[in-house]
Amino acid sequence: ASLRENRAKYESMKWAGLPPIEKNFYKESARTASMSQEEVELWRKENNNITCDDLKEDEKRCIPNPVCKFEDVFEHYPDIMANIRKVGFQKPTPIQSQAWPIILQGIDLIGIAQTGTGKTLAYLMPGFIHLTSQPISKDQRGGPGMLVLAPTRELALQVEAECSKYAYKGIKSICVYGGGDRKGQIDMVTKGVDIVIATPGRLNDLQMNNFINLKSITYLVLDEADRMLDMGFEPQIMKILIDVRPDRQTVMTSATWPDGVRRLAKSYLKNPMIVYVGTLDLAAVSTVQQKVIVIPEEEKRAFMHSFIKSMKPNDKVIIFVGKKLTADDLASDFGIQGIPVQSLHGNREQCDREQALDDFKKGKVRILVATDLASRGLDVHDITHVFNFDFPRNIEEYVHRVGRTGRAGRSGEAVTLVTSNDWRFASELADILERANQVIPDELIAMAERYKQSQMRKENEKDIQRPWRKPSK
Ligand code: AMP
Repeated sequence: ASLRENRAKYESMKWAGLPPIEKNFYKESARTASMSQEEVELWRKENNNITCDDLKEDEKRCIPNPVCKFEDVFEHYPDIMANIRKVGFQKPTPIQSQAWPIILQGIDLIGIAQTGTGKTLAYLMPGFIHLTSQPISKDQRGGPGMLVLAPTRELALQVEAECSKYAYKGIKSICVYGGGDRKGQIDMVTKGVDIVIATPGRLNDLQMNNFINLKSITYLVLDEADRMLDMGFEPQIMKILIDVRPDRQTVMTSATWPDGVRRLAKSYLKNPMIVYVGTLDLAAVSTVQQKVIVIPEEEKRAFMHSFIKSMKPNDKVIIFVGKKLTADDLASDFGIQGIPVQSLHGNREQCDREQALDDFKKGKVRILVATDLASRGLDVHDITHVFNFDFPRNIEEYVHRVGRTGRAGRSGEAVTLVTSNDWRFASELADILERANQVIPDELIAMAERYKQSQMRKENEKDIQRPWRKPSK
């Protein structure tokens, strides 16, 4: 009891003297307020099937109506409107239309949406308003006001690029990531920034060495939370959040909603609302033509080379492989043949990875060989083809990879090589193809059936060996 009492005392001392936080900036437009329940439901249905829920346990609040136009939400923020007009966006994306009115009311939000849906601006724009509308000025704050935690350097850099493109009123942002110039990052952080976009490992390192004050943060984003957990960042996130004030506003995005992410949400968000956009399997892949080729392992290379030969001059392809070694191997194969390529994987130096991405984005090379490091977060609009040389380690990753093409409303094509080693995925893959109205090769169906039979056989054998087990269904 005394420990608990001391802890509470220590906690209140830790947060004493911090300035109050202003969180609610939402003024619903007349147009949004006048939407009927039917109109709201129709809008949600037609916009990737948005579904929302209030996770507050006792009294449920009213989920705000979605905003159909930028003016409905940013009418009073001319800097934001000017930036949106400059880039020529037509209307909010589904996640933005529903997330903005929630976040701007100061409510914590979980957005189940993936890269390519406009999720970054969904949290950045309200973040800018939050930052610039606090009762104290940023100079009095004594540290950054907003923190975005992202799983990979690539995603962190991408968020930073969006941030500097749309920020206004001199908002300064910095990207802090492992492998980058640590001293330069420390210099920037200590000089004073408003927004820190960081991978958890490096930020935790700066925090432990007292290079960064996290107490001033009032707006926190956990971007791609599922991916951060997959990469084992939970301990670092825990350590970082010990120093972030508990009455902050928190936004979390995730492509999926497994138990681990639910647990994270429960620990770090307060009475959040949740917005799901589309179903994982269809949203990203409905504009992509998906071809699946069942092939023996030893014929994969020849198939890939003939595919590359058939590319048109403006085609851009990302070739996904399972191992870093395979990425290097294929890249040098292309090199020997005089075909310009770049490769992206975790063993390459950070500057080489940035160069590879830049060359691919700018079209200096039209082929990028990559491991799953690039399956999420990679935002290159004009990828025409995704070529899955190796099948990914799970079906969700397949969806992410395929989603690298067909972006921003364009059509794209995905070619996936499947060998007998991948048979455990055959059934789920066939389901995805079916729901996206794609051709399902007979060999894939046969493979799924063989796998099912083999699983049943295995179960039966186990039952024979251990008769006390319940019979399998
Ligand atoms: P994200 O899902 O955040 O990775 O965003 C994917 C791409 O969509 C980025 O290049 C954004 O700049 C772009 N984007 C964001 N919002 C909109 C919008 N309302 N209309 C069109 N494109 C958008």
